[in-house]
Amino acid sequence: SKPISPSYEEFRAHKVQTPGANSTFRVNATFVTLARNSDIWDISKSIRTIEDRFNHNYNYDWVFLNDQDFDDDFKKLTTSLVSGTTYYGRIPKEHWSYPDWVDQEKARKAREEMGRKNIIYGESESYRHMCRFESGFFFHHPLMLNYEYYWRVEPNIELFCDVGTDPFRLLKENNKMYSFVISLYEYHETIPSLWSTVKEFIKGHPEHIPKGNAMDFISEDSGKTYNNCHFWSNFEVGSLDWLRSQEYTDYFSALDQTGGFFYERWGDAPVHSIAASILLKKEQIHFFNDIAYYHPPFTHCPSDEQARLDLRCHCNPNDNFDFRGYSCTSRWYKLNGWKKPPGVKETD
Ligand code: GDP
Ligand code: MN
Repeated sequence: SKPISPSYEEFRAHKVQTPGANSTFRVNATFVTLARNSDIWDISKSIRTIEDRFNHNYNYDWVFLNDQDFDDDFKKLTTSLVSGTTYYGRIPKEHWSYPDWVDQEKARKAREEMGRKNIIYGESESYRHMCRFESGFFFHHPLMLNYEYYWRVEPNIELFCDVGTDPFRLLKENNKMYSFVISLYEYHETIPSLWSTVKEFIKGHPEHIPKGNAMDFISEDSGKTYNNCHFWSNFEVGSLDWLRSQEYTDYFSALDQTGGFFYERWGDAPVHSIAASILLKKEQIHFFNDIAYYHPPFTHCPSDEQARLDLRCHCNPNDNFDFRGYSCTSRWYKLNGWKKPPGVKETD
């Protein structure tokens, strides 16, 4: 039987104490984690950091999804760590297998070829199912349908500061649909035909492409070519209703029809990032500068010392990836006309 999460009205009625955040209600939102049973220790670390820095004040739910059944050890431990209600779901076969239009022999050869070239996860079949699932399906899982917003959490992450304001609430109150903390360049070898597919989609669906989108974040020539910039999707707080919208559905299905998730190795990070950059207005994408975050091997640590002290941060600002050469965040600053923090060199 499918656990039902409380309705938004019930959430509103449920006042929680949120010291320092002057928040009186919760948004209809959940954490969501895709994991294997073997991820138990690495995800426990992530849960602990999220609870200590944020969720112990809010008790948001946490949905765990897996292509296999979760075992009792996994459920017992994670339930004990999460302050909200936990739900465990198995992914339906259609969301973690080959669609009938994909030539599996061609896919196998592509994996071998990429493996020979030492492209990261190039030889992996499960990684491709994972990327396709995160790109097109997690928000359609029955356990996710009652929620409006999600926060994706992966194994082995760390938060270095208190989360001062509820990110879900920030998104909801400002009509934002997507957010990030770290951005960087994708390996072109994993997505050789992604951009031509996106261009075909844009041509076929001009009604889905608003003026004032963030195309200039991902393209240096107004859409002719892709600069490989993407938001690092192991952290995401976003709108599930947006991912379930007609625009996003048409976009994902245009991509999926080509088989590119299997013939190449399209990551959910460029797929989500391109969607956000072309389907949304620029202002609907939020940069969470004050969420200090680590997913191996990169760190986001706020440059402002007072912010770090106020939020009791313990990251080293010298580890901040934002303005390094391989980050795209400088580009985000430029696009928004923001001044970089004092002391930051172009090459830093
Ligand atoms: P990376 O961050 O790109 O190096 O990839 P990860 O190994 O962190 O995988 C991304 C997310 O998908 C993590 O939350 C993993 O736990 C999850 N994941 C990856 N492969 C599988 C899989 O085969 N099955 C399940 N259930 N989860 C997976
Ligand atoms: Mn990861």
